[in-house]
Amino acid sequence: MISIGAPYVTKDGGCARLNSRVSIDGYESVVWCEVDGKYSPFLCEERSDAFLLGFLPYAMQFRHDIQCDAPVTKRLREQLEECFVLPYCTVNPMTYKPRIFCEVADEVTHGGRGIGTGVSCGVDSLHVFATHPEITHGCVFNMFVRNHVRDEETRRMLWRNMRIRARRFCDEIGVELVEVDTNFDKGILPDLKYEYHVTYANLFAIFALQKLFSVYYIASGYGADQLTLNTSIDEDCALYDHILLPAVSLSKIMIRLWGTERRIDKVKMLVNYPPAMHHLNVCWETECDGKNCTHRCGKCKRTLLELEALDAVDKFADVFDVEWYKSHRREYMLEYYSGVRRCEVYAMELQPLLHHKFKMLCLGDRLWIYLHYWGMAAIVSILRNRFIRNLWHFVRDKILHRRKNA
Ligand SMILES: [Zn+2]
Repeated sequence: MISIGAPYVTKDGGCARLNSRVSIDGYESVVWCEVDGKYSPFLCEERSDAFLLGFLPYAMQFRHDIQCDAPVTKRLREQLEECFVLPYCTVNPMTYKPRIFCEVADEVTHGGRGIGTGVSCGVDSLHVFATHPEITHGCVFNMFVRNHVRDEETRRMLWRNMRIRARRFCDEIGVELVEVDTNFDKGILPDLKYEYHVTYANLFAIFALQKLFSVYYIASGYGADQLTLNTSIDEDCALYDHILLPAVSLSKIMIRLWGTERRIDKVKMLVNYPPAMHHLNVCWETECDGKNCTHRCGKCKRTLLELEALDAVDKFADVFDVEWYKSHRREYMLEYYSGVRRCEVYAMELQPLLHHKFKMLCLGDRLWIYLHYWGMAAIVSILRNRFIRNLWHFVRDKILHRRKNA
């Protein structure tokens, strides 16, 4: 059983926190969500909605029921159970359908007119800003700073970089930045895994501030053809955002999924959106300066290939090392060629736009690409060959046998 205590607000040093004492099979912890003191009136202590949404995937995965001391919004509970949990558990019969014990109440009345979205400065996030000039609040939540990074110092550095980047972007386009710190993902539960529950984490923070927003956009990380309900609860929940988000959308706070088009179409929009040219950040590397690595991670390489396909690499000289790109172009083309051979989604999207550019490469570069790709493929194929593998095992056993007898 997951017991969620009634939420309460505390204030300290110019900050305000929404807290709840959460107990899971005797393991108890205070879970909190912290914002600047000026947002204190928008923290929702009247309902358990935020905490219910935050712990729902944990309950479904580890077979817990949920008990809330404070009321849950009636419409939220009904929609969640009928429009999400029931269909999800029907499609995935091994997943537990938690029972929710709580009182219900009407939606909290509030005058919040904020229109919000996250500011990661990635392609999906900037695409939401480019298509919604009416957005009033950009948000950063301290939950997505490289989930696999466990050492505190690196996490602090990544959180700082994320805030600096978001602040610069929001200042340029003139929207308010809301920074939300939390302990939700910092080991409050021994087996709480965050990697695949990003949407629930988003909803936890959004509903903690539910009196601030009238609309909140969540950027889709997947194209419409990839969305599905048929996926395990410990897989990426963004795959079923199209079912989950309408189920948590209420009359006073609408949660909308945005941007289910192809990634290349989003990038096409960003090449005509000047703020993206100064702030786009897609890098997977944990760079200490918070900039794109340009050539070490696959995400940077692929984004540069997308810009190449749209003849827009030079426009992004502020955020990528364009000189490096130009002097190592064939390495990026090798990435593209490998993607096409493996039928990867990003490469197939790029093919109609990049194919002629690949054909225009000089003979030397093309030969280099073919040699690298097929050379590597040949090595992999040789290593997989049964005769070679058996020969290697025979030689290795002989060597070990001799060492033993020596
Ligand atoms: Zn990178």
